[in-house]
Amino acid sequence: MSLKHAYNGEPHFPSRALISRSAFEHNLAKAKDLAGDAQVMAVIKADAYGHGAEKIGEWALDAGVEWLAVAQLGEAIALRKALHERGRMLALIAEPGAPFWEALELGIDLSVGASWELDEIALAANESKICARVHIEVDTGMARGGFSLAELPSVLPTIAEYAENGLIETVGLWSHLAMADVLDSDETERQTAEFVHASTMFADAGIDIQFHHLAASGGLLWHPDTRFSMVRPGIMLYGLSPAPEVATAEEMGLEPVMRLEADLVSVRDVPAGTGVSYGHTATTPIPMRLGTVPLGYADGIPRHASNSVEVVIGNQRHELIGRVCMDQFVVAAPGAVAGDTVTLFGASADGYLTADDWAQHCDTIGYEIVSRLGTRVPRYFVD
Ligand SMILES: *Cc1c(COP(=O)(O)O)cnc(C)c1O
Repeated sequence: MSLKHAYNGEPHFPSRALISRSAFEHNLAKAKDLAGDAQVMAVIKADAYGHGAEKIGEWALDAGVEWLAVAQLGEAIALRKALHERGRMLALIAEPGAPFWEALELGIDLSVGASWELDEIALAANESKICARVHIEVDTGMARGGFSLAELPSVLPTIAEYAENGLIETVGLWSHLAMADVLDSDETERQTAEFVHASTMFADAGIDIQFHHLAASGGLLWHPDTRFSMVRPGIMLYGLSPAPEVATAEEMGLEPVMRLEADLVSVRDVPAGTGVSYGHTATTPIPMRLGTVPLGYADGIPRHASNSVEVVIGNQRHELIGRVCMDQFVVAAPGAVAGDTVTLFGASADGYLTADDWAQHCDTIGYEIVSRLGTRVPRYFVD
């Protein structure tokens, strides 16, 4: 029996991403184990890397995680409401003029990595009479966000003053690693030392910090010295590796949370020498049955997968033939009929290519494969 019959009432679409609660909980337990005494802040930005942030957030909170993180303040505002303000939520990114007042009213923790941001948040705190819970970002090597150590001496007095006036509470000090996946580089050690130095500067200025956080999945998995009192894993919670060339998800005992499948919409038997899809970049070498899969680059299937990956139909792997189109692509489908289930990626233990395998074929990273899965593909939450 096909799983799709269980989906009555769900939006109609001929493909679906199955999101496994037990796999997520398994990966979360691994992250908690590695974290030891450090708090786990589950990163659920970009709609939980395409998995559905509302449910993933709920699952994390139900599993005892206190902290969630998203990228944009707008994501935090929407999710904070959807999750009924459970737990704590850190927003990593905001722009000048962002709705800090609303964020404070919703009890969102805010990252602060620039002077304008510090001032705007303090102003919102002053006007709303709500003390802002902030995590100060220092730039130790990403050149992307945060105060540099050089500018800290001029910023620390302002932070101290706002804290004394009850406008801000300095909950966290954080930074982000650029090369946690390059094990023979000294960069992580150098960034860690710089982070510790920044922390000393705060202590010397008499500013209390509750949590220090530096490690994402890569740091948590491969650099124990970067764990401090909080860690921010994302990708590993979804059962993918931050860097499969260092260690695959399977090797680390992680279980892919997403399985992407579709219904074959048609099959056709064609003679040898048949050109397939746009540009006829592939021609059938022998007479073949071809199947049409109703997913394309508009759904986030990389066009780079053209003539590259394999899908599974009825326990058999079959190659994708020709170019990926906007809404569909063609596969070899011997013995298949319209309506058969085609699995694009999932867990290798089930015989599927993983999203990390797809990434390798498409010259990208697993993060991109799952997070770009289009919003028109329904997510079904299982287990
Ligand atoms: C995305 C992100 C994370 C999570 O990274 P993973 O590699 O997915 O674990 C953690 N911290 C910050 C600042 C991020 O931007």
